[in-house]
Amino acid sequence: MSRVYNFSAGPSMLPEEVLRKAADEMLDYHGSGQSVMEMSHRSKVFDEIIKGAEALLRELMNIPDNYKVLFLQGGASAQFSAIPLNFMNGSGKADYIITGQWAKKAYQEAQKYGNARAVASSADKTFSYIPQTTHADFDPEADYVYICMNNTIYGTVYHTLPDVGDTPLIADISSCFLSEPIDVSKFAMVYGGAQKNVAPAGLVIAIIREDMLGNARDITPTMLNYQIQADADSLYNTPPCYTIYICKLVLEWIKSIGGLEAMKARNEKKAKLLYDYLDSSKMFRGTVVPEDRSLMNVPFVTGSDELNAKFVKEATAAGLVNLKGHRTVGGMRASIYNAMPYEGVEALVAFMKKFEEENS
Ligand SMILES: *Cc1c(COP(=O)(O)O)cnc(C)c1O
Repeated sequence: MSRVYNFSAGPSMLPEEVLRKAADEMLDYHGSGQSVMEMSHRSKVFDEIIKGAEALLRELMNIPDNYKVLFLQGGASAQFSAIPLNFMNGSGKADYIITGQWAKKAYQEAQKYGNARAVASSADKTFSYIPQTTHADFDPEADYVYICMNNTIYGTVYHTLPDVGDTPLIADISSCFLSEPIDVSKFAMVYGGAQKNVAPAGLVIAIIREDMLGNARDITPTMLNYQIQADADSLYNTPPCYTIYICKLVLEWIKSIGGLEAMKARNEKKAKLLYDYLDSSKMFRGTVVPEDRSLMNVPFVTGSDELNAKFVKEATAAGLVNLKGHRTVGGMRASIYNAMPYEGVEALVAFMKKFEEENS
């Protein structure tokens, strides 16, 4: 068996320990005589899995007791509609910061339901930075302010949250979920698709402050109504049982290595190796302003489309896969999520050095 280093933006690598454990438990989960894939979502044994996953998430992220944790489906993209349907119900206004394609999609979806306003945008420079805002930029009447915390395609991240005063702040954390500690109490809601850092595809986790719930519009589809999902403990209908089980194994893995502070230290060490090389290279350069660089997604270019294509092709042959950048940025992107080992980034940097020597 030979495994590649997979730099995909998502779905992405899972920790090998998790895959091995899932393989061991595939045919008979804890003496139940069944795979988790086969069991009833109403069974006692599955109840322990979903409750266990929630308890671990609460512990690792230090989630305050007045927040609900929901296990949902429909991807992060379904939340783009659910958020205005559930929350844009006071003034009917909401403020969005456009830091990339995912934020823009959320904003465009919200425009269907009310008065969504783009407060700031970094579209002028291909989203290569986080636009600065001040408290005065936000509408005090807005029902919420929406940000995308880590911009998967462009490789930027909020190191400091915008000052939104008392307005509820909602963040898409899909591509930085569990990569470092965050202060959940600063948000009215954070949510993310699992397929970047948490589990296979098919699961979205939403963490919502309780006082936000209960004001969904009448037309809100039942499946998108957070209050209904919360009242049903995420079991209104059949949840993605197996994905929730893998999520629990990933959470156990994070706990075993020391929690989110330890995860952050690992991620910083990996990212530093790559950024330091990009900053010293004469062939490659990062596309993001240094102060807004993501720990998770690292886009870079050579300045020549031909060399970019050659690099991606030769890297793939060397077992470093999915390095092609998003079509709107071009070049390359290395997604170095939690499960990417340090050795994977070392292998990438060594390959880049060799490529630079051979092609200059
Ligand atoms: C991947 C991603 C999405 C889209 O997720 P889906 O689950 O495919 O809908 C949204 N936001 C961010 C930040 C992402 O990285």
